[in-house]
Amino acid sequence: MRQTYAYLAVTLAGGLLAAYAYLRATKGRAAHRRSGPSRKADRRARAAEESSRSLLPLTLDAAAARSWICEAASLIDANAHYLTHLDAVIGDADHGTNMRRGFRAVVMGLSEAPLGTPGAVLAATGQAFITKVGGAAGPLYGAGFRCAADALGDTEHASADEFGVALRKALVGIQDLGAATAGDKTMVDAWSPAVAAYERVIGTGGDLVQATRAAADAAERGLRATAEMQARKGRASYIGPRTIGHEDPGAASTVLILCALSTTLATSASERVAPPPLADGWT
Ligand SMILES: [Mg+2]
Repeated sequence: MRQTYAYLAVTLAGGLLAAYAYLRATKGRAAHRRSGPSRKADRRARAAEESSRSLLPLTLDAAAARSWICEAASLIDANAHYLTHLDAVIGDADHGTNMRRGFRAVVMGLSEAPLGTPGAVLAATGQAFITKVGGAAGPLYGAGFRCAADALGDTEHASADEFGVALRKALVGIQDLGAATAGDKTMVDAWSPAVAAYERVIGTGGDLVQATRAAADAAERGLRATAEMQARKGRASYIGPRTIGHEDPGAASTVLILCALSTTLATSASERVAPPPLADGWT
């Protein structure tokens, strides 16, 4: 009889243990089914959000404007002797020195004051040129940067279209003050084709990176073309035909400034890395 009770007790205990193990396994599988798709969906949602953010159109904000001006200052500094050499041939040999001094003052000013919009950065740049740089270049670049700043207003993120308007206004400001037109062998001969190239690229669906690259390339072609021109404005016009065969220093500094813009935006765009695609089998 005792053997029968013992047999029943062992059988019952074994059954309970098997049932417990079965329930645990079933619960675990259910939990896995719940958590698997949920984690996958979350990850996919995050990836989609990241991807859409990376595909937003590139804009020019205060940080990008500041980077542009600092890069321009660096390029001008590295090429100051070249600019002065160009100015020595057809002018008074001060363009490199003036531009270097102006950009150093600008960079110092930008590091001292927090400027929250691209317009504020360009307004401060223009102001520094007007107050710190002599000759014709200071007031001309000062007017250009200030007109661009006015066009941008208080916007925090200038679109490619808005920045195109600012570039056009900069050219207008430079021409209003200097009264130079294309072909006079001045910085206008670099600015004018640059703005036109920028507008062409934007008009055909291009973005800020493509448009600023086209602007810099067009400015450089404009600079090369100044070698064939006879100066009709500024100090260089005094020596007339002897200016032919030499590039204009103002057009050369414009090329450096627009190359800095193009480089800065291309770098900014390359830093916006899209996340890798999610593998289908990921859970
Ligand atoms: Mg000069």
